[in-house]
Amino acid sequence: MPPKLRGVTVAADLGLEFDNSFIRDLVGLYEPWRGAPAPAPELLVLNEEVAAELGADPASLRSPAGVEVLAGNVVPPGAEPVAQAYSGHQFGGFSPRLGDGRALLVGEVIDRDGRRRDLHLKGSGRTPFSRGGDGKAAIGPMLREYLVGEALNALGIPTTRALAVVATGEQIIRVGPVPGAVLARVAASHIRVGTFEYVATRGDTDLLRRLADHAIARHHPRAREADNPYLALLDAVVDAQASLVARWMLVGFVHGVMNTDNMTVSGESLDFGPCAFLDDYDPSAVFSSIDHGGRYAYGNQPGIAQWNLARLAEAMLVLVDPDTDKAVSLATEVLGSFVDRFHRYWAEGVRAKLGLAEPRPDDDALVNDLLSLLERNRVDFTSFFRALSSPARGDRWPVGVSRPDPASLETWTARWRRRLAEEGRDPRVIAAAMDRVNPLYIPRNHQVEHALDAAGRGDLRPFEQLLEVLAQPYEERPGLEEYATPAPPAFGPYVTYCGT
Ligand code: AMP
Ligand code: MG
Repeated sequence: MPPKLRGVTVAADLGLEFDNSFIRDLVGLYEPWRGAPAPAPELLVLNEEVAAELGADPASLRSPAGVEVLAGNVVPPGAEPVAQAYSGHQFGGFSPRLGDGRALLVGEVIDRDGRRRDLHLKGSGRTPFSRGGDGKAAIGPMLREYLVGEALNALGIPTTRALAVVATGEQIIRVGPVPGAVLARVAASHIRVGTFEYVATRGDTDLLRRLADHAIARHHPRAREADNPYLALLDAVVDAQASLVARWMLVGFVHGVMNTDNMTVSGESLDFGPCAFLDDYDPSAVFSSIDHGGRYAYGNQPGIAQWNLARLAEAMLVLVDPDTDKAVSLATEVLGSFVDRFHRYWAEGVRAKLGLAEPRPDDDALVNDLLSLLERNRVDFTSFFRALSSPARGDRWPVGVSRPDPASLETWTARWRRRLAEEGRDPRVIAAAMDRVNPLYIPRNHQVEHALDAAGRGDLRPFEQLLEVLAQPYEERPGLEEYATPAPPAFGPYVTYCGT
């Protein structure tokens, strides 16, 4: 019998088809659990695109019965909510037992394309993993995760995506009282580097093998065909993360809290709480209030990803080979390949940003000289690259867009133009291709704050407008100039607070 709610039959008509492989395959990695009741759930925002992908009828999700499901008050038929267990290296220090302290895996939905997608709630109340926390989330950070996930997705970057944010109708205590919320999100899975660390720490080789088999089947099925499937799994995760972090770097994204519990084996961006996009190009840029040492600074992200992958490799060693020395040597070689792979993905991406089609030996020098120029002159990363299609087209530099000092820019531009000329492609084709990879609209920090401030006062219009702008980051549209402009100087240095 489907659960009943205020006389309405719930959820059978939400259209979600569940098949919960994680709980079937991985007993020992979760605790069955239910969300804490949200006293007066109110839908703030629903992602109709994601709803449709999941095969859900948006109207039924907006109905009171649908909102009860999104708030975690009602379990839809076929779902079997659990809190997942995982460990994590947080800022370098190991916590053996983190887990979903304020989240639940509701179940796995088979979407309309046959893809398996985790449906997950964040802010749904205390669980056996809550430690000292209240299990809750505030509206602001949940709307922020919604917005940034949509922006990353529209930029073509693999990411978890929000389905909805529901206000719970309850005040929670942060610095002072703030309204609580639940974020419903979807992901290829929530298997993290920290999930492997959790099992390895317990020394349960049988569970570790089941976890690796599950991750292979779900995310990297080609690894199963390899001579050493577990080494091939590590290799596939190294590759997926090298690609992901390169894509972040190419749009100036700073994740903010790259702990191993926030790094997926699927290669999707996850738990980007205190994240932000660069304004001025600065490799040492840090926005998170808790990242005192700059561990997760923009320019450190590739090194941190490799460090996290080394933790994954350590956790998987017993699967890689029964002879530890051999396992270490095989895993070290795969880990070492991160640097080249990252560089390859990055270099390919930067070439596209510069309108170059073919790799050349002096590309690195051309790129690095440009980046030093941008850094020295504190040039806005996003608008500079976008503006570069104007000179590529043969036009003047766009009025008002920041650039390095004219003499240095002229010298660099002359080199770049020679390089473009050698390839002999049509300037209009080059410029159009550049505009397809250099976004005009990113979630600018001052715009995000403005939208969240207004939402906090009950006005969701700026949030919805910003979402709409970010859904098409590459296409210039009249009237949206303010979204393509760096923050006014009065905005000051930007600080983000961890996703609590
Ligand atoms: P995060 O920084 O959100 O990725 O969370 C890191 C760890 O802290 C995870 O195990 C979370 O479940 C847990 N956590 C974060 N906030 C809370 C909270 N308000 N209540 C309980 N656990 C939390
Ligand atoms: Mg997390």
